[in-house]
Amino acid sequence: MSSALPKFRFHPEPLLSGAIETSDAECGVCGQTRGFVYAGPCYVEDDFDAQLCPWCIADGSAHRKFGVTFHELELPPEIEVEVLDEIEERTPGITSFNPVEWPVCCKAPMAYLEPAGKKEIQKRHAKLPPALVAQMAEEFELPPAEAQQLFDSLQRDESPCAHIFRCAACEAVRAQIDFD
Ligand SMILES: [Zn+2]
Ligand SMILES: [Zn+2]
Repeated sequence: MSSALPKFRFHPEPLLSGAIETSDAECGVCGQTRGFVYAGPCYVEDDFDAQLCPWCIADGSAHRKFGVTFHELELPPEIEVEVLDEIEERTPGITSFNPVEWPVCCKAPMAYLEPAGKKEIQKRHAKLPPALVAQMAEEFELPPAEAQQLFDSLQRDESPCAHIFRCAACEAVRAQIDFD
């Protein structure tokens, strides 16, 4: 691909996550065919079926033209409104079964990487499993063996799924579990 995608600091790898796909479709905001379109969730009041290119998401013009937002966020109150706006209005969304609580690290929202199953976690986030199994045991009040079973059942495109986040400051990696 010749044209590099715009930078999304809170969703830095939208091709990996599947939020942006290659496509010949025309963007409903700028009218151009950029080679990529948005494939994630849109939150908007009216019926909405426009294609959006990543550039019109990044510069806020998709939000201004259609009033569309890309996240239903649950973020802690200490996050500045400018950062909330950047995530809600100018950052590709997360395809999930239920709204995902966005983790915070080093006083900032972490960056969203991708939906992952056991296979993707072992391949790309190899250090995560022990901490994630412990986190699931605590979060769902499971004995260790059942938390391990839950980990083993994680899948990228089905429930249960783990959404992987990384802190831009300390590079800590965390997962939020998403169920159907
Ligand atoms: Zn566009
Ligand atoms: Zn951190």
